Amino acid sequence: MAEPRLVEDYHPATARERAISEPIVFWDETLRDGEQTPGVHFSPEEKLRVATLLSEIGVSVVNAGIPVVSEEEARAVRLVASAGLKADILAAARTVPADVDAVIRSGASHIAIFVAASNVHLRYKLRMSPEEVRAASLKTVRQAKDAGLHVAFVTEDTVRAPFDFVERLYRDVQDAGADRLVVADTVGIMTPLTFRWYLKEFQRRVAPKDLSVHCHNDFGLAAANTLTAIECGARAPHVCVNGLGERAGNASLEEVVLELEALYGVRTGVRTERLLELSRLVEELSGIPVQANKALVGYNAFSHEAGIHTHGILANTLTYEPLQPERVGARRQMILGKHTGKAAVVEKLKERGLTASDPLLLALLQRIKTSTEARTKDDLRRFLEEYRHLFERPGLSDEEFWTMVEAVGIGAVTS
Ligand code: MN
Repeated sequence: MAEPRLVEDYHPATARERAISEPIVFWDETLRDGEQTPGVHFSPEEKLRVATLLSEIGVSVVNAGIPVVSEEEARAVRLVASAGLKADILAAARTVPADVDAVIRSGASHIAIFVAASNVHLRYKLRMSPEEVRAASLKTVRQAKDAGLHVAFVTEDTVRAPFDFVERLYRDVQDAGADRLVVADTVGIMTPLTFRWYLKEFQRRVAPKDLSVHCHNDFGLAAANTLTAIECGARAPHVCVNGLGERAGNASLEEVVLELEALYGVRTGVRTERLLELSRLVEELSGIPVQANKALVGYNAFSHEAGIHTHGILANTLTYEPLQPERVGARRQMILGKHTGKAAVVEKLKERGLTASDPLLLALLQRIKTSTEARTKDDLRRFLEEYRHLFERPGLSDEEFWTMVEAVGIGAVTS
């Protein structure tokens, strides 16, 4: 019997059964939504480094930012758009003509025009009526089409908006020339089941030519909901490296890619063996540490310590790993510690060509366990203190803020 190599060997028909045949257009939002992660900002040169690697890896669309935000941001988008990357470079705009102009000037070939759709956003944030939203959307979509851009239309909070309004708005912007329609679960409240219902209904009512989704991870379901959307026919999912993004972030690029590759048997065209390199680069430039036990790119994703597990892994990695670490460019780590068993020690001794009798092995194991159990947690405690200090209050300190208030001359009103 041939031995199964990887997890996808157990699901050979998944992709066909689920009718995922068209190529997936990965639309990366790391430099836009990812940069909106509290405390994060990328310089234009840093954006170029990330965009270059994203493009080399095989990501199709890179959102470089919102040029109208600042001079620096406009320079970043121009820098990325003029770098001759293989990926399509996209920039974002509100439904405001000046925003669209800024994208046109940036040299990006793709634009995402966004506006809020739900009543709570319209009433409390935009203070616009549905009719005003519709008019502004149509006007700016036409403006971008006239300039020859590929136009994606996005509404924030799509899934909480009245469906009749969504239906009419999206049908009209598609008629006005929008090339791609994006449904956003802005506050991450969908589940695979509810999102399936929503997207089927959206397709029935709107008939999008090209459907995209933007999923947030407030309940840890962003990647699962994104996969559901792909099963339902979405072809341009929004993703972020390391799952960066507002609050709990967006669907993680590496998760969605590997889930499609390994669990669905879909060839994405993404060079997965460079995903760890990409993850580490974004970790470094964003300053947001990757969760140690994060799927696929976390520091523990391919680490083993427990005796039973290392024993299994040493006999055949399939026992406790659904895919090989090399698949994402990672390396397997065997950790020596309290839970270590004999097999791991025997394997480690081989590094120096050593073998040992059972009594000596047991003596060595005993030492390893006692030594790790006796270790203090001081290092870890110091690290966590620093970590909490940095992340409980990212951004300006109160002191810095009030100093600036004084510097610009804001004073108490005196009578
Ligand atoms: Mn978002």
